[in-house]
Amino acid sequence: MSKAYETVIGLEVHVELATRTKIFCGCSTAFGGAPNTHTCPVCTGMPGSLPVLNKAVVEKAMAVGLATNCNITRNCKFDRKNYFYPDNPQNYQISQLYYPICRDGKVEIEVEGKKKFVRIHEIHMEEDAGKLVHDPYTDSSLVDFNRSGVPLIEIVSEPDMRSADEVIAYLEKLRLIIQYLGASDCKLNEGSMRADVNLSVREVGAEEFGTRTETKNLNSFKAIARAIENERERQIDLIESGEKVVQETRRWDDTKEYSYPMRSKEDAQDYRYFPDPDLVPIHISDEWIEEIRSKQPEFRDEKRARYREEYQIPDYDIDIITNSKKLADIFEDTIALGAAPKKVSNWLMVETMRLLKENVMDPEDIKFTAKNLAKLIKLVDARTINGNVAKEVFEHVFAEDIDPEAYVKEHGLATVNDEGALKTACEAAIAGNSKAVEDYKGGKEKALGALVGQVMKAMKGKADPGSVNQMLRELLK
Ligand SMILES: [Zn+2]
Repeated sequence: MSKAYETVIGLEVHVELATRTKIFCGCSTAFGGAPNTHTCPVCTGMPGSLPVLNKAVVEKAMAVGLATNCNITRNCKFDRKNYFYPDNPQNYQISQLYYPICRDGKVEIEVEGKKKFVRIHEIHMEEDAGKLVHDPYTDSSLVDFNRSGVPLIEIVSEPDMRSADEVIAYLEKLRLIIQYLGASDCKLNEGSMRADVNLSVREVGAEEFGTRTETKNLNSFKAIARAIENERERQIDLIESGEKVVQETRRWDDTKEYSYPMRSKEDAQDYRYFPDPDLVPIHISDEWIEEIRSKQPEFRDEKRARYREEYQIPDYDIDIITNSKKLADIFEDTIALGAAPKKVSNWLMVETMRLLKENVMDPEDIKFTAKNLAKLIKLVDARTINGNVAKEVFEHVFAEDIDPEAYVKEHGLATVNDEGALKTACEAAIAGNSKAVEDYKGGKEKALGALVGQVMKAMKGKADPGSVNQMLRELLK
């Protein structure tokens, strides 16, 4: 490659808002459910049905806008985006083109110690479409309208990103803000957060943007990074061989690691947008904005500062815990139940992280409660169970949120505090391991470990290693 190229990337991020009901009707937004059970005449586009706007959608969209430094549009309204597709029963989608609810925002990202802002062009509210399910047995396609009318916001960035790393940093930042707000769970794998990548390349130093493509169907951060790398290479190859990049929408196949064209990229005029006559404009007052602003939660940066002040835990722990709303909540709730901050942090940083990784889970998928983690820590503090048993019990807390007290009782895992039994086991270990005893008496401290191991084995792991240690030392005096 002779020339140096720069990648220019802008994102369109769709986020499903965590409201109880849909944007224009009272149907449930719950994920899954038997097909077409969360539906009514409105969200299946029946003639004569009328949409009624869900106030919670406007409030959540405003909250996201305020958290991303946007201006809130005081008079915003909905438009119809006309297109035909079987999962879209009205033959139009209710969206916002002319007066989106939020405009001109920015979020700060950091990549390899370098900070920069990514500008947000706009955030608009719209409804989600249904889902087509292809049935291989009857060789036909079925439609499920449960998702039809689930509220979405689309966050449109300016073309401010230059690498996959910046894109991931931006998405992680958005996800964290939205999760902290409780506005969505932002699960890429369940589609509650979806990103379309607009990408073009240009020679370094060029003023004009190159022709861009839009890549869809990206359902993990890794897929996004791979698709960006692939699309960059594809466009550079075209330019280098004297061909032209075509403005189009492409679909990424992550298993085969390549993209293919879906359709030529349409412009706004292709959709024949017009104001939706069934919905009145929304007037947003200063008081309403202030009310939403006053309810904004403590975000990550504020949390970090407070943790540093309140809990004596390392910055490294603070960074990891505050990087997930779920972890931060469990951390604070467990401390509120009386556990020491460093101990809670240790359970989260070591065992929780290990199990998340093993189970390929996200911290947001954690099922266990602060209550049961606090109980487990209490059992260790009271020396009712030892460290190894605690780890074993925690695996069950993690998997099924069991009550550790009940579990320990039921499975007879409590440490044996019977002095007599402990002494018998220690004496047996001493009698059966003359070599270790000799070594220990000869000054080899390490030899004691072998004896402790023998006793722990004899006690089926249910002894307190500290007490075993002490007992052995006394008997060997
Ligand atoms: Zn409905």
